[in-house]
Amino acid sequence: MNKILSVNAGSSSLKFQLLSMPSERVIVEGIVERIGNADAIYTVKLNGNKERTTLSIKNHSEAVQLVLNDLIKRQIVASLDEIKGVGHRVVHGGEKFKESTIITPEVFKQIEEVSFLAPLHNPGAITGIKAFQEALPNVVHVAVFDTAFHQTMEPEAYMYAVPYEWYEKYGVRKYGFHGTSHQYVSMKAAELMGKPYEESKIITVHLGNGASLAAIKNGKCIDTSMGMTPLEGIPMGTRSGTIDPAIIEFICTKENKTVQQVLEDLNKRSGYLGISGLSNDSRDLEDAAAEGHYRSNLALDIQYKRIADYIGSYYVYLGGADAIVFTAGIGENNARCREVVCDRISALGVKIDYDLNNRVRGVVTELSTPDSKIRVFLIPTNEELMIARDTMRLAKL
Ligand code: ADP
Repeated sequence: MNKILSVNAGSSSLKFQLLSMPSERVIVEGIVERIGNADAIYTVKLNGNKERTTLSIKNHSEAVQLVLNDLIKRQIVASLDEIKGVGHRVVHGGEKFKESTIITPEVFKQIEEVSFLAPLHNPGAITGIKAFQEALPNVVHVAVFDTAFHQTMEPEAYMYAVPYEWYEKYGVRKYGFHGTSHQYVSMKAAELMGKPYEESKIITVHLGNGASLAAIKNGKCIDTSMGMTPLEGIPMGTRSGTIDPAIIEFICTKENKTVQQVLEDLNKRSGYLGISGLSNDSRDLEDAAAEGHYRSNLALDIQYKRIADYIGSYYVYLGGADAIVFTAGIGENNARCREVVCDRISALGVKIDYDLNNRVRGVVTELSTPDSKIRVFLIPTNEELMIARDTMRLAKL
């Protein structure tokens, strides 16, 4: 048995799971939030109990020390030597990283080099890697990239029709995100269908606060909805998804704003929140829409239409589909979203069992009826587990 830490570090947060491998059991999980503040929050979940502490945490190193000391204090590990590997989620791997990689000093430098592509996301991961490497210098550290699974796209799918030099000089292209999740749920769907992954056509719909779809042919991603940044694609909790880029200059002029300010509007004040004017949370919008709130209903309809648009286009690009998979917070829990989307793609011969769909939450379920032309699944995602598996594999444990 090996204990593996799966880590997801953001600019001010540090999320972790300690897993027992190969049984894949979660021993403990937790999160440190508001790092850099006097009132940072440490939440730990152990044996079904959740404990929350507010304390001062100056930086990621302190957060890592807090977590590791706590594992010892609670006798979850007798010594830190029991932790055999640490897997780190890194959002952007650029074109450099096509798969998960052991973090050598050279790899660390390369992660820093591609960070210009994800200035909002990668620095947190880099700080997290540094802090864990200092605390656990003798174990294997592995980087697992959100972009890696999408690196199999063909140029026709990942290139934007813009001056080619933008790609050559600055790497302007579609990279895609949530790759670990798309890979996990598509592998699981193939397994549930009893089909070899290498001979399957699957459309995955990851709907959380951030949301993206992927078209996966024979185990390889051939298209995905997020782009060079997570802003492209379908509307999300606070992101607009794809818009006419000319709107940016138009609003800059009309509202006397900078490009950065308008991009912030598109990233943080659009999507569900922007249209509804109420909330970025799908539960609030479903509740308000049920009570007749026009803009909440509209926010949901815009997103559901765009999801159906992508599924239709991926169906064509894949040359058919064996399965459609719903996952992440909304995909796993919001029955109405799945129902409306499946109704909107009924032209593809998709049929689901509405009663079953209404009953299930967050558990692996086949939602389609036996006469549906495409099988539809709800599969809870598990990025932490994928990170732990890759860490085990690369560390040769
Ligand atoms: P993130 O992208 O931040 O990881 P999540 O995958 O947690 O996001 O998804 C957040 C979204 O999932 C929110 O819109 C929330 O309303 C929805 N969601 C989460 N849990 C539930 C639930 N139990 N019922 C309905 N919706 C849920």
